[in-house]
Amino acid sequence: MIALYPGSFDPITLGHLDLIERGAKLFEKVIVVVSCNPTKKPLFSVEKRIQQIVKCTNHVENVEVDSFLGLTVKYAQLKQAQVILRGLRALSDFEGELQMAHTNKTLWDGIETIFLATSNEYSFLSSSVVKEIARFGGAVNHLVPENVVQDLKNATF
Ligand code: ADP
Repeated sequence: MIALYPGSFDPITLGHLDLIERGAKLFEKVIVVVSCNPTKKPLFSVEKRIQQIVKCTNHVENVEVDSFLGLTVKYAQLKQAQVILRGLRALSDFEGELQMAHTNKTLWDGIETIFLATSNEYSFLSSSVVKEIARFGGAVNHLVPENVVQDLKNATF
């Protein structure tokens, strides 16, 4: 079974990476899909985010990285993926995630959303937290993959 892991990944964190590694053990293939959300103003371009994810996942054989502008279920049909993988950190994630899962199901009955609980040590972690720390020069090497640390140092906020 092929799983999509869609998200903004602006930038990818160790929490995302943990989910990718665990997902790759459960599914034949995990396709990490960087969403090109036109309403969000990202720090990193889609191309840069893809490059960051490719670099830190190259030790996982059955992971692919791509981007997509449009409905996730459309992309799932294109790739013959039956699963959308998402992470749950806290109760606050639950409402929005459940709404999205139900919505996607109404768009295509062939899709299932599977949630993985975040690993304990990353339950507080989000891309926004990372950007907030990096903006003020704080250390983020315990929060993001090594290649992203440098990108954050060079970023213009
Ligand atoms: P989106 O804008 O789609 O929420 P994110 O990049 O913020 O994109 O998150 C993508 C997915 O990864 C979501 O399912 C989110 O819950 C999950 N996720 C984010 N941070 C973590 C984390 N620290 N541990 C596990 N899952 C996470």
